[in-house]
Parts: sequence; structure tokens; C-alpha cells
Amino acid sequence: MPGDAFFPDPAATAEQLWASLDEAWQEAFRQAWEAFRSGNIAVGACAALPDGSIVRAARNRVADRSAPAGEIFGSALAHAEMNVLARLPYRAAREFVLTTTLEPCIQCSAAIRLGPVAAVRFAGADPLWAGCHDFSPLSRREAARNKAVLSGPRSDEVGLFGTLISRFGPGLNQRTDSQLRALGDGDSLDLVARLESAGEVRALMAVTVQDAFGRLYPHLAALREQQSRQLDSAADPGALNDRAPADDPV
Ligand SMILES: [Zn+2]
Repeated sequence: MPGDAFFPDPAATAEQLWASLDEAWQEAFRQAWEAFRSGNIAVGACAALPDGSIVRAARNRVADRSAPAGEIFGSALAHAEMNVLARLPYRAAREFVLTTTLEPCIQCSAAIRLGPVAAVRFAGADPLWAGCHDFSPLSRREAARNKAVLSGPRSDEVGLFGTLISRFGPGLNQRTDSQLRALGDGDSLDLVARLESAGEVRALMAVTVQDAFGRLYPHLAALREQQSRQLDSAADPGALNDRAPADDPV
């Protein structure tokens, strides 16, 4: 029921959540949406000074045939974070906050080590690259160097949105799809498949990123609930046993 504290109106809840995002989060998602609408992988990023003012913003350009000077395009390397980092000045003070819509891959994590980055915030989890952010075990020098503070993924619907939209557009090849399912991401991939077959992904191309978040919010909220139930089950082996069929021989 709209307005009811126990059953909040999804549109109003989505609107409030979006309004609570600072400018860097909103800009990163605007960039991701532009990537999606231009046939690229929907990931966006920006770099801000400690006071929050945005210095550079960029997006994924793997499928593009041109780009602003200094950015990479038409290549598997043309990630949003790379295109932000490549345009930050050489030997700038290590103070930038990098905000990105998806957990950085191993390439971008290495670039973050070279760039003037004090902190990284990411919205959506990417299980393909979990555990690929700390290069300390590689050498004593690397272990001793100062590292950017990494925070993410966000535990709210904005985090799930970051992951979900990165699977729109060009899509995943079969092998990556299988790997993600093995890593526990099947629910999110199934949702993308349902949205695609319903024509919803194509329809979203016509709206702004904020409106897309509002339209997807009920799906994201359901996905979040599904995932937290699975976490609860995993933390409570008794709950799993309760669900086992009565004639389960185990
Ligand atoms: Zn990357």
C-alpha cells in the first residue's frame, strides 16, 4: 500500500534511495547508462577530489569506434576505470576518490595501484574479480606500499543494480555465464534473461538511469531478499536440513 511504513511504495523508495546518492555515485551511474545505450558494457566511473568535486568521468568503450583524446576504445582494455585513470595527471597527489559502478577487474585494480588514488568505492559485486585487488603477496615492495582504501560492494539495491546492468547489452559468453553461475550469481543472471525475453532491457534504453533504477527496483528488492535468505540458510545448517526432502538418503 503506498505510503504504508511496512509496505512502502517501491517508486517512492527507489526515488529516495537515488536521491541519497552523492554526485559521484550518480555521475558514475550516468556514465554506465551511456555505455549501455551506446552498445558497450554498462560500467561507469569517475574521480573526485576529497571535497567531492568530480575531476574526470568516463565509461566503458569496448565496442566504440572513437573516444575523447586520452581514452581507450574498441578494445577489451577499454574499461571505465581505465578511461578515468588515464586522464588523471602524472604525479598528481595521491588523493583522488575513484567511484565505479562495478567491482574493478584485475587490469583496473593494477591501474589503480599506479594512479593517484586514495580510495575506491564500487557499487556492484563482480564475483569474477573478487580477491584480485591486493597484490601484496607478489613482492615485498608491493606489500610495503600504501594502498587505496577499497569499499564495496554496496549492500543495497544500488549495488545489485550496478551488477545487473553490467550484464545487459553485449551480454556474457557461455563460459563466463557458467563461471558466474558456479560462483553463486545464477539468480541475477536469470533475472537478466527474464528482463531480456520480456523486452524490458530494450525498453529501458529509452529512459534515464534514474528511471531505469525505479523500474527495476521491485526486481532488485526481490533479488536482495532472495540473496539474504540464501545467506541466512548458509549460516544456519539446520535451515538447510529442514528443507531436505523427507526421503533424502543423506
Ligand atoms: Zn576493468
